[in-house]
Parts: sequence; structure tokens; C-alpha cells
Amino acid sequence: MLLETKSLKLVEEALQVLDKSFDDMPAFESHPDISAMRDVLLKVAERMQDNFPYPHPLYAGQMLKPPHPMARLAYTLALWINPNNHALDGGRASSALEKEAVANIAAMYGWADGHLGHLSSAGTTANMEALWVAGKLRPGKKILASNQAHYTHSRISEVLGLSFESIATDCRAKMDMDALETALKTGNVGTVVATLGTTGVGAIDPLADMLELQKKYDFRIHVDSAYGGYFLLADNLAEEARQAFDLIHRVDSIVVDPHKHGLQPYGCGCVLFRDPSVGQIYQHDSPYTYFSSDDLHLGEISLECSRAGASAVALWATQQLLPMEPGGEFAQGLSQGREAALKLYGYLQQADNQLTLFEPELDIVIWAPKATSASAISEASTQSFDQAAKQHLHLALMSLPSLLLKNYWPEIKFDQPTVTCMRSCLMKPEHIDWVDRIWDIVKKLPQR
Ligand SMILES: *Cc1c(COP(=O)(O)O)cnc(C)c1O
Repeated sequence: MLLETKSLKLVEEALQVLDKSFDDMPAFESHPDISAMRDVLLKVAERMQDNFPYPHPLYAGQMLKPPHPMARLAYTLALWINPNNHALDGGRASSALEKEAVANIAAMYGWADGHLGHLSSAGTTANMEALWVAGKLRPGKKILASNQAHYTHSRISEVLGLSFESIATDCRAKMDMDALETALKTGNVGTVVATLGTTGVGAIDPLADMLELQKKYDFRIHVDSAYGGYFLLADNLAEEARQAFDLIHRVDSIVVDPHKHGLQPYGCGCVLFRDPSVGQIYQHDSPYTYFSSDDLHLGEISLECSRAGASAVALWATQQLLPMEPGGEFAQGLSQGREAALKLYGYLQQADNQLTLFEPELDIVIWAPKATSASAISEASTQSFDQAAKQHLHLALMSLPSLLLKNYWPEIKFDQPTVTCMRSCLMKPEHIDWVDRIWDIVKKLPQR
């Protein structure tokens, strides 16, 4: 069976322990209609059959990583309480676990001795919060991000009423530092978003150079590492990426998505601020929320109100099982993904029927089947994508600007502004064991 079920039994055992907390309550039981529920649940299972095989290593397409069984179990266990981490009144235990789990992430970034942060529903809401704080601290000033940054930054800025400017990227999809400096010279820039791991190709913006520019110009740095943030723990990064992660503690705020590379189910982003005093910005006075104690209620430092406490429980449990330490099993999982990406990239480079770009910085590989023109390459990519899926290898497609690709493929006729390329996110530790099989399929694509 592809779907792991052996661990399910543990939930029942753990529920017995959890139930003891209510031992002194007068007896009360609920009696759901098990037989009717069975009918519906089996129907649900049938309807849910229409999915890609996400847990299998031959799913190597979009940025989708299965949650760890530990996270799944802890999340499920927590659902019997259904805590709300807005206020301690909604989830005392899960709020405590969230504070610990977030402190562990902060410690990973070198902020063990002070930070403000919490989990959020997603990277988008986490970035929104960081940009909201940025706007409060630098009123009237611009937000900048590269044209390869996540598309939501410009939209978030729009929602927040902040002006946004997109900065050009270089031939490796990193923010262009000359273009950045030109924008900084205007004096109206408040915050620069550094993407450490772009969603498209996994590029790392040059954080070291940005920090240098901070000596000349006054601006904040927000790191969006929703996808790439955990790679700080990997031991096989190239020097540039290593340097960026080593400097990350010097920025003002960081976003990372435990539901991307942190082995969590969806609904788990995280935002961190280096300066805990930004907490003052959040002050609100709600008649509904009874902050019944002086202890910190997470709702006092977050934009969102109700939030799944189960997410915090799942993250805490996963961190217990797989601590975020260099060389540990969790860190190795990230290194293995990058190793798999480098291996596939090496095979592609050697092949005479494929085109490659730059070396993957994290675990995303981009390539295209060789052809003579942009339009022919695009067509071959689409065919390859379909043919691979028929052999149970699920890849992704991505459209890249011809301007970028011209640097790598000078002999190609660029008869259209963009080119459809192949993209593979090798996010699972198991991908290192499957990359040869993946290559066996890819090297014959597209088949004529
Ligand atoms: C995925 C991603 C986001 C958005 O996060 P969601 O959790 O999907 O809302 C933002 N920035 C980057 C770099 C991402 O990869």
C-alpha cells in the first residue's frame, strides 16, 4: 500500500492518554452514527481517488511534499480538542507548543535570544504580516522585490496600500544589484524583500550584497524563504547560497513555510521578527476576545484571528522526532533533495538531446528537450510532460522569458517571448534513490 496506515493505531492509544485530562468531569459521551458515517467516508475515499500520487517518489513535479506521519498523527490527535491558537482560552496547551516550535525555528536562524513570531495559515499571510509591519515602520515608502519573487508580494502590497516595485533579475534569476541600487538611490524605498529560494527555479537572492547596500542606504530587509528557509540546515549548498543563509540572522524579518519543507500538512506558515518590540504595532481592543491572563496570547501578536492549534501540535511533534539540527535526519533530508537535483542536472548536462540552464541552488531542476526554436522547445516540453505522466513520472512545466534563456542557449531561434520548460521539484529524501529511474524516463523524452 502506498498510503502508510501502520501508524494509525497510535492515535487511539494516545487518545486514551489525552482523555484522562477530563477524568473528573461528569460522564458525557457522544454517539455518532457510525454506519452512516462509514457510507459517506467510503464515498469520500472514492471521490478522493482523483489525485496525483503525491507520496510516491515518481511524483516529482510541483512544490508538494508529503507531511511526515508524525505530523499527521499529532494533527489528528489534536482534532479531538480542536484548539484555536488565537487566545489561550481557545488552546492553552497548543499555544505553549506553538511558542516552543516557533522558538526552535527562530533558534535555527540565530535568533534564540529574542524574536517575535508565530505560525500562520500560510506563507502568503505570513508575508502579508511582515509587509504590514514594514509599512507601519516605514510609512509612505516602497516595497521592492525581484521579478522572480513570489507573485503575492505585489498583490499584498496592493491590499496594504503600499507602493511596490519589481526589480530586474540577472541571468541566474537572482535580484540584480545594480537595478536595486538604482531604485535605492531615489530614497523612497522602505523595505527590500530578499527571496532565499524562489518558487520558480529555487534561486537565492544575493543577501550579502544587500546587507552591504544597507551601509549606504536606509532600508529594511525582509527574507521570504517560504520554500527555501529550511535549507539553512543542508550541508551541501554552493558557496553563494551558504553565505546567504549564514547572514540571515542580520535581516529584520523572515518567513518560512513548515508546510513546504517542514514536513507539515497545509495550514502552516511562520513569520519571525528580529525586534520583539514590533509587537506594539498589533495592539487591538476586541470586546469578543477575553485575554484572560497576562501571559502572551498569540492573537495579540498576529493579524489572523482563529487559527488551527493542531498545526502547532503537529509541528512541535515533528520537531521532537526530527530536531532541526545540522547533520540530523531532518537536515539530511534537505541535503538529499539537493543531491538528487544535482545528479539529475548532471545527467541532463551530459545528454545531447536536452538543454540545461544554471546549476540548481536548492532542489528544483529546470531543463528542456533540445530543439531549434523557442516554439519547438515549448511543444517538446509539453509532449514530454504528457508522455512522462503516462509512465507515472509526474513533472511540471514552467514558462521562462526568452531573454533569460538566450544566455544559455545562443544557438536557439527565439521566435516567441517565453519558452515552456520542464521543471522538477525533488523535495523528498527518497528522490536520491529514485533519480536514476527518473532519468531513465526523462532521457527518452519526448518520444517520437
Ligand atoms: C510558496 C511561497 C509563498 C506563498 O506561500 P503559501 O504558503 O503558498 O501561501 C511565498 N513565497 C515563496 C518564496 C513561496 O515559495
